[in-house]
Amino acid sequence: MPRRLEVRNSAIHGRGVFALQPIAAQRYIARYGGVLRTHEEAELTDLHGIDSGHTFLFSLNDRYLLDATRSRCSAKWFNHSCKPNCESVLIEHRGRNRRLDRIAFRTIADIQVGDELTLDYGIQLPQKPTARLKAIWRCLCGHSTCKGTMLSCPDK
Ligand SMILES: [Zn+2]
Repeated sequence: MPRRLEVRNSAIHGRGVFALQPIAAQRYIARYGGVLRTHEEAELTDLHGIDSGHTFLFSLNDRYLLDATRSRCSAKWFNHSCKPNCESVLIEHRGRNRRLDRIAFRTIADIQVGDELTLDYGIQLPQKPTARLKAIWRCLCGHSTCKGTMLSCPDK
């Protein structure tokens, strides 16, 4: 099968994922690969990199997350957008083994060749972000409805 996706530099942030072919809406296009870690483990070691503006963690379920820091999956390069063209879907393991749940990304709009594929990260902060965190997690998606931040929080 010809390659549908390519990772290259993005105007939004660092590297991004771009379509090499037109892709219809509602197609699964990537799976998030990474090392399984518990939320507690990620907290303790600050894997979230909340001070860096980069994260390769994806929350899998209430117990686990996937750490793609060392993964070669292209899914880890999806940038955030306030008007994303993809969404993440939790694929639960049939035997209810939550270690075997999966995260897949699916298009929610028709994608043209050259489009950057984006997601709403929905990074939740427990409290109102400081000005510093807001600056670190600034959104540059460029959409007319851009909220200016990738963070979603209780009282903005
Ligand atoms: Zn934005």
